[in-house]
Amino acid sequence: MTASCPTCGAAPTGDHKPFCSRRCAQADLGRWLSGQYAVPAEEEPDSADLEALEAAITEAVEDGRVVPGDFVRRK
Ligand SMILES: [Zn+2]
Repeated sequence: MTASCPTCGAAPTGDHKPFCSRRCAQADLGRWLSGQYAVPAEEEPDSADLEALEAAITEAVEDGRVVPGDFVRRK
């Protein structure tokens, strides 16, 4: 493999691929969690709507108002 560590560009090692070290892997995870890899702002309402829709569907199914598959059949 010729890929390099996404964090520092060094050659990755087997234990931490694609990173060169545990430290770089954690640094990358930290960036991920801190939002540097988050989707563009204009897409946030869409994902929020999807989450709300999914929650509403899950709630309806759990309440017995809807059975899984209704959405497919009734369109
Ligand atoms: Zn590295």
